[in-house]
Amino acid sequence: MAAALVYGLGGRFFTREFYRAQAALAAEQPQAGGGRLSLSFDIDYPEDARALPELCDLLAQLGLTCSFAVIGKLVEAYPAEHRKLVSAGHELLNHTYSHPDHEIFHPHESFDDLALSAQKEQIERCHKVCQDILGASMTGFRAPHFGNVTGRTFYQALNELNYSFSSSLTAAASPSFGLPFRAEEGILEFPVTCCPRHPFAVLDTWHALRKSGARHTGKGELRSLVLEAAALVSESRGYLNLYLDPRDVLEFEEAKSALTGLAESPVRLASITYAGYLQLLRDNPSLG
Ligand SMILES: [Zn+2]
Repeated sequence: MAAALVYGLGGRFFTREFYRAQAALAAEQPQAGGGRLSLSFDIDYPEDARALPELCDLLAQLGLTCSFAVIGKLVEAYPAEHRKLVSAGHELLNHTYSHPDHEIFHPHESFDDLALSAQKEQIERCHKVCQDILGASMTGFRAPHFGNVTGRTFYQALNELNYSFSSSLTAAASPSFGLPFRAEEGILEFPVTCCPRHPFAVLDTWHALRKSGARHTGKGELRSLVLEAAALVSESRGYLNLYLDPRDVLEFEEAKSALTGLAESPVRLASITYAGYLQLLRDNPSLG
């Protein structure tokens, strides 16, 4: 109990200082902050792919254009569901062909441990599948099990494949306090927002609702944390890069409530895709 209290207070303190630092950096680099919002989903499981048509309808009702990280194998298995994303105008991110360290598609081998050539092959194969089946061309990437990636060779792989951006790190692990920043090999990295109470954990439905020992299962808790993060970003003129699981938005009323709360919030953040953001930042020397 005492440890939880100390940790809780530590989380709040870290979050306050983190957004203070984000505000200071955003003041220096207003084009990197500006109070913007990106929303992304990873289609990691068949259940996620099957949730896409209903999720697309919900996002259309809420007026949200989002980014979806896609796995080549699931695009092959669920082409119609993925085509719906493209026709609805959502952005696609390359999430590799078989998602190394995926219990169904590619067990017992992490993306992090693959040689550069094997990482490139994973990215290229997903790229080709999306071109052939969806007619979509991607320039952005999300690493499998993002947030746990320790090696950075994928930036070299992305550069060699003419990709331009990635969203594969947590805000807590970013040198930019959550703002987009220029990572290795000229790749622009969009860090994913963390939980205001547990600032080293991604503020997602896994952390809040699904995992064993989920941290924010109370009624309205996830919604209020998302709105709190939005208010912090609005105040810092920074960046909210929120991540959700597709099937969770349909399975958990609390997740749907968080999403609708954000869409209807009086806190106005400018919604933007990663590619749209990249266009704004392109050739900006201050992002060094
Ligand atoms: Zn939390």
